Amino acid sequence: MVYLKDYKYFVKTYGCQANEYDSELIASILEKLGAEAVDNESDADIVVFNTCAVRKNAENKFYGRLGALKKIKNEKKDMIVIVAGCLAQKDYLKISSIDHVDVVLGTHRISALPQILQEIKYSRKKIVDVDFTGRTEPDVPARRLSKFSAYIPIMFGCDYYCTFCIVPFTRGKMQSRSREEILKEVKNLDEKGYKEIIYLGQTVNAYGIDNKFQYDFADLLEETVSLVKNIRWIRFTSPYPTNFNQKQIEVISKYSKIAKHIHLPLQSGNNEILRKMARRYTVEQFLDVISQFREKNEYIGLSTDIIVGFPTETEEQFYDTLSVVEKVRFDQAFMFAYSEREGTKAANYEGAIPYRERLKRLYKLIEVQNKITEEKNREYVGKIVEILVEGSTDKNPLMWEGRTETNKIVVFNKPNKDISGKFAKVKINNSFLWGLEGELMEVEGD
Ligand code: SF4
Repeated sequence: MVYLKDYKYFVKTYGCQANEYDSELIASILEKLGAEAVDNESDADIVVFNTCAVRKNAENKFYGRLGALKKIKNEKKDMIVIVAGCLAQKDYLKISSIDHVDVVLGTHRISALPQILQEIKYSRKKIVDVDFTGRTEPDVPARRLSKFSAYIPIMFGCDYYCTFCIVPFTRGKMQSRSREEILKEVKNLDEKGYKEIIYLGQTVNAYGIDNKFQYDFADLLEETVSLVKNIRWIRFTSPYPTNFNQKQIEVISKYSKIAKHIHLPLQSGNNEILRKMARRYTVEQFLDVISQFREKNEYIGLSTDIIVGFPTETEEQFYDTLSVVEKVRFDQAFMFAYSEREGTKAANYEGAIPYRERLKRLYKLIEVQNKITEEKNREYVGKIVEILVEGSTDKNPLMWEGRTETNKIVVFNKPNKDISGKFAKVKINNSFLWGLEGELMEVEGD
């Protein structure tokens, strides 16, 4: 086996939580081989870009950074440059033709990294390892960046082929991990004192679809609840609206250990546009799922994803989206102007909306949603909320932050000792668009 003692590595991650988890796996493999993490490309002998293909913006950022690496690599000839992730899977021909890229590693091939490094270390030949069949997990636990919160993918890939989305082409077919493998990981994290886990999947509540739901998402959640002692919040993202069934809604609502926050992508509030997006639900079905959760839960945080300016979207259809947003009153929304992704069905649709119009609609939507978010955050003022403390904020080391069960960010003055990873009670004094501000009242165990 290749030995990487004295090697330094740097991993840059773009995109979603699935990629963050894959980067944790890559880091874990490199460390098992003896390499040590550094904070930037210049100090590294192995540079890994774990890329995202979902939006043009992330793609541009990656190519910019890869371009800048060329100068460093010219001065450091032995550096190994690896491009992994969804863009590597999708554009492997283009990326492998870039001179200073040594390895193109597909999303299903992370487990092959040790052999690849062995080969490249001795032959220095460019390697492209991209596979479109099932993914095999590496036999190492991910190197967790957090000591109290952990992502656990429970399924990979997606079979839904929404017409705007590149994911089914980069992550392959839906593939649920085995119950045993997932619960072993959960047990291990629980024994280490983790407080929160986040189950991941492109359509996370379709878990079990490939074993005919003999053991499904509700079963997994219920068994997880009964297994864990230290873990208090079990989160999951992202569910697909019509994969929610009675049993799932019952289980999620019943157990206090399942965090009361649902990220449920709406995408559009118009049935005709949903049909053109190949989403498998109507607005009415979406609203029904929301009502069921609200009926069964005194409080539940709701967030969503919305795309405006999809090909052929009329102004009236856009206003349908606004009216659903006003009706549901999401706590938070990730809002985007439609952008064509080469290789998807919608990229060839006629009826493209002029870019300025897409932006106009986006700004209008943001204005409406921001007002709702501010109003919903204001409801917290004067209340005492429980948060899981994360640590100091990025911008100000004198301010600390954590999240509520409903996924609201709460900041407070730096405590007099390290309380990261603990549950704490905070009295909310102020609310903003980005979250809440308050004073620390109580810390678990103190
Ligand atoms: S459900 Fe649709 S949007 Fe989500 S990953 Fe699958 S194809 Fe993409």
